Amino acid sequence: METQYDIVIVGGGPAGLTAAIYARRAGRSVLLLEKEGFGGQIASSPRVENYPGLPGISGAALSDKLFSQAEALGARLELEEVQSIQDGSLKTVTTDYGSYRCKALILATGMKRRTLGLSGEETLQGVSWCAVCDGAFYRDSDVAVCGGGNAALQDALFLSGICHSVTVIHRRDTFRGYQMLLEELRRCPNVSFRMNTTVDALLGETALTGLSLRDAVTGKVSALPVSALFEAVGQLPQRTPAETLLPLDDAGFIPSGEGCRTPVSGVFSAGDCRVKEVRQLTTACADGAVAAVAAARYCQEH
Ligand SMILES: Cc1cc2nc3c(=O)[nH]c(=O)nc-3n(C[C@H](O)[C@H](O)[C@H](O)COP(=O)(O)OP(=O)(O)OC[C@H]3O[C@@H](n4cnc5c(N)ncnc54)[C@H](O)[C@@H]3O)c2cc1C
Repeated sequence: METQYDIVIVGGGPAGLTAAIYARRAGRSVLLLEKEGFGGQIASSPRVENYPGLPGISGAALSDKLFSQAEALGARLELEEVQSIQDGSLKTVTTDYGSYRCKALILATGMKRRTLGLSGEETLQGVSWCAVCDGAFYRDSDVAVCGGGNAALQDALFLSGICHSVTVIHRRDTFRGYQMLLEELRRCPNVSFRMNTTVDALLGETALTGLSLRDAVTGKVSALPVSALFEAVGQLPQRTPAETLLPLDDAGFIPSGEGCRTPVSGVFSAGDCRVKEVRQLTTACADGAVAAVAAARYCQEH
């Protein structure tokens, strides 16, 4: 049986949960659909230092707060994966459990992890994309983090408190992450850096035993014995179930203007899945608010 809502939100990360809070406060009935876990990417971050008013909060705690706030305001929050969306005077959203109709739709599908594309990456025990989830399995072990942005630096900092040693491997000669984070990491005695270096191969049969590294300048290949590799090599937009509805940019992000409106009437987008310059918590939440206000106004007018 189809149930009807004013606004359906696809994605339960910071953008989607903020949109739910704003849409409920605007008096609209709201269904938010999340396919994996409420909180989105930030749920796996050990420590968030730049969310205004909550310095040092863990990503999991921030996710819980956002979820509780949206739920307390009366948003219906369900763990279901949106598989297709059909446009019309009412939009039909189909999930793996059923289908729903709504006047307005907010796409807040975020991004997903990028992989190195190495053999054994998905099967070898010891390869992880979540330091906060898996770091404790490698307590007192030698581990590596691959990447050059804030996620890599945060992971390395978190792991330095648990593991015997952490080697940060980056293919370039400078990091993209925040200077303060880098300075903190440089003060950790058990952290070392391999700059201008790529991971060529994963060593081990069922569990990771080491990495084959290549120096991008000299071409020299060397082995680094580690029990775990934490990959933080960037993100890609999630495949959006709205791709048949909407023109996406070349990289797969959803174009939407200042008001988070897409070219399709009644469809809005918020957060990291949008074409934009700064993909952060604050900008995701800001988008969620803007999209929800615009969607609520759309419901009123239609
Ligand atoms: C390790 C890490 C640390 C970070 N640290 C910081 C930090 O310190 N400060 C900061 O400002 N930013 C940080 N970020 C970035 C920040 O987390 C993101 O900018 C923010 O989460 C974007 O929010 P979002 O809601 O747009 O997308 P996401 O958080 O990606 O959430 C999107 C959600 O949509 C769901 N979804 C996708 N497709 C579907 C579908 N078809 N059906 C149902 N659900 C779907 C996904 O499962 C996901 O939960 C970090 C990111 C990572 C990975």
